[in-house]
Amino acid sequence: MGRAFKVVVLGGGTAAGYAASEFVKLGIHHGDLCIISEESVAPYERPALSKGYLLIEGAAWLPAFHTCVGTGEERHMTKWYKDNGIELVLGTRVKAADVRARTLLTAAGETISYKFLVIATGARVLKLEEFGVTGADAHNVCYLRDVQDAAHLVDQMAACRKVEGKAVVIGGGYIGMECAAALHGNHIPVTMVFPEHHCMARLFTPEIAAFYETYYGKKGVNFIKGNVMASFEQDEFGKVTTVVLKDGRKIAVDLVVVGIGIHPNVDLFEGQLAMEKGGIRVDGKMRSVSNHSVYAVGDVAAFPLKMYGDVRRLEHVDHARKSAAHAVQAIMSSNKVGDYDYLPYFYSRVFTLSWQFYGENVGECILFGDHAASKFGAFWVHKGQLVGAFLEGGSKAEYAALARAARQRPTVDDTRLLAMEGMGFAMALTEPVPPRVSLMSSIATADGHLFLTRPPSWAIQVGAGVAVGVAFVSLAFWYGRRKKRW
Ligand SMILES: Cc1cc2nc3c(=O)[nH]c(=O)nc-3n(C[C@H](O)[C@H](O)[C@H](O)COP(=O)(O)OP(=O)(O)OC[C@H]3O[C@@H](n4cnc5c(N)ncnc54)[C@H](O)[C@@H]3O)c2cc1C
Repeated sequence: MGRAFKVVVLGGGTAAGYAASEFVKLGIHHGDLCIISEESVAPYERPALSKGYLLIEGAAWLPAFHTCVGTGEERHMTKWYKDNGIELVLGTRVKAADVRARTLLTAAGETISYKFLVIATGARVLKLEEFGVTGADAHNVCYLRDVQDAAHLVDQMAACRKVEGKAVVIGGGYIGMECAAALHGNHIPVTMVFPEHHCMARLFTPEIAAFYETYYGKKGVNFIKGNVMASFEQDEFGKVTTVVLKDGRKIAVDLVVVGIGIHPNVDLFEGQLAMEKGGIRVDGKMRSVSNHSVYAVGDVAAFPLKMYGDVRRLEHVDHARKSAAHAVQAIMSSNKVGDYDYLPYFYSRVFTLSWQFYGENVGECILFGDHAASKFGAFWVHKGQLVGAFLEGGSKAEYAALARAARQRPTVDDTRLLAMEGMGFAMALTEPVPPRVSLMSSIATADGHLFLTRPPSWAIQVGAGVAVGVAFVSLAFWYGRRKKRW
């Protein structure tokens, strides 16, 4: 006979941390909540692994990035869970689930029962072994999903530096790009290999990718595109020494970092819960459509994306945080909350660069801004509406404007004009009326009334100068603050 809880959160990652925070805010009773995690540490902000943990100078290690520092809230260490009456069961894998009986079976043999289950099991990395690559389990072949992986990668980077070795990154997505930047920061020459014709192919257009590839290239990062690794060669100790490409080329290597995608951890629930798009199909409350005592959040949830009238599964940290909070609100209010209404949002930071993306990248891509000044962006226009927005090097106010534009989906009549207006288009959508009026000149007439005229061009220039100044100050302020954010 095991323990019983009102709510069990299965998984101890980012979504679990934000779920716990929301439960406490909404006044869950001591002893009602249990979190079971295979990891041996309290929930943390996973993006910090590639953005802080791997740095050679000023690295951020735990406990610096436990949830919920990513949104500027309090950092919750193990003691916080204890103080709030939450049973945090760490280092424990759940090996079986029975959603009819409402029980979970841990690898240690304990049966834990629940009234409500929140599945927050995230995803696991795809491994090269799954594609039949031999030697892929060598100690100098690294992945990055959890803090153990990150610690191993840090050790391997140190070993690689010691022999003045080289690294190959396999995969051109954001994990590959962020790891390549980290390797470069660790003074390790790096070559990236990926099958697509440019990096970040799921999001970037060739033009956007060209900026980042040029930037990386100037740092000395080498790209081998449109190619894949075929096999490894190993020495007598099992260390991978050569990456052999499909076209027969061989790259001598001391360290391999693999970022080829992830697979949602839903296996425990296959055949028990409705599935869609590789995840657990939930409704607008994040509640399983096939079992109302089960909720799913974060990477495993296939949920109705209200603004697109579609079911999606997203692997983004912002969604993990918000979907977790939404599920908790639904549980605590007996589902009297509205439906989850999410705006897709994703970001990355590499070297001194930083970008954000909102909405979806479908339709025609309209570029704006100045690559040379590292300040540029793109809008996606689909069926006459702006549906997606991307910006590199923006200020807090500009990113907020992009988010609102992607949410509002304004009509775009002239894409050439949109390219010319660029950020101005998004800012104008969101600017309240008074600032526009303040750019007009007011003139007193003989009868004492005021009327407004268009400003002279010098006034526009001064106004624009002030706006640039404000944007610059915001940017500097944001850069100062972002160090604490993940
Ligand atoms: C290195 C890295 C950088 C990232 N950077 C960004 C970024 O810049 N922007 C962005 O939007 N997103 C980023 N992400 C993605 C983001 O971190 C994830 O979308 C988010 O962590 C998902 O949260 P989650 O709680 O659903 O899953 P996770 O955070 O993965 O947590 C899942 C938890 O469940 C546990 N678990 C799984 N199965 C079991 C089981 N059977 N028993 C017990 N415990 C189990 C796991 O051990 C883990 O603790 C990044 C991810 C990584 C790995």
